[in-house]
Amino acid sequence: MKTTTGLVCALGLLLSLITTGCERKESPTTAPATQAAAVDTGGQTLCPVGGDKIDPAVFIEYKGKKVYFCCEGCDKIFEKNPEKYVKKLPQFGGKEEPGEGGMGM
Ligand SMILES: [Zn+2]
Repeated sequence: MKTTTGLVCALGLLLSLITTGCERKESPTTAPATQAAAVDTGGQTLCPVGGDKIDPAVFIEYKGKKVYFCCEGCDKIFEKNPEKYVKKLPQFGGKEEPGEGGMGM
């Protein structure tokens, strides 16, 4: 019985060591990375409004096609003036460009 207790003790210590090591490595604030590559976005990678990388969870349907955005709020801006942004969308035959705002050329 003495041996078993010692083994369990050693295992527990080992486990806690491993766990501590893991927690240090991974930042707990980082959300699980969404695999954008696995989602069919029609070739779209950039938000037409914000110019940032799209979030596959944020999209609307426009003329039967999905339009993706970097964050909520950009979709509202798009809906106000979609024609301005569709030319940046590959799924509408457009060409992606970096965002127009705040680059300060
Ligand atoms: Zn956005």
